[in-house]
Amino acid sequence: MNVRVGSPGKTRICPHCKTTILESASVCPGCNHHLRFDPKAIAESRARATFSALRVEGAFRNPEGVDSWEYSVVVSIRNDRGEEVGRKVIGVGALDPNEGRTVTMSVDVFAPQGPK
Ligand SMILES: [Zn+2]
Repeated sequence: MNVRVGSPGKTRICPHCKTTILESASVCPGCNHHLRFDPKAIAESRARATFSALRVEGAFRNPEGVDSWEYSVVVSIRNDRGEEVGRKVIGVGALDPNEGRTVTMSVDVFAPQGPK
């Protein structure tokens, strides 16, 4: 069985957090809400191979005894030709002295199962 839910890359808006997500997602990667309760669709979604393409984590800290810092977290996506196809400011904020943040960025890949 190789039935597709829509076409690859098709998106929709999560009704819970309003993030743009894949139409094929059964769980929103932004807010972790379950989006479909159709058992057939959920079983189909689980049958698809899923892997984490990358996961990067880093921490930064404002050392004690200096003024507050400001930071912005930006993620950009480029295609094979180096052209930017997506760019988003994920969050901004301030760090008081001796305060830190840890940023984690992950990419999940969903591949259809079975022969073409
Ligand atoms: Zn959501």
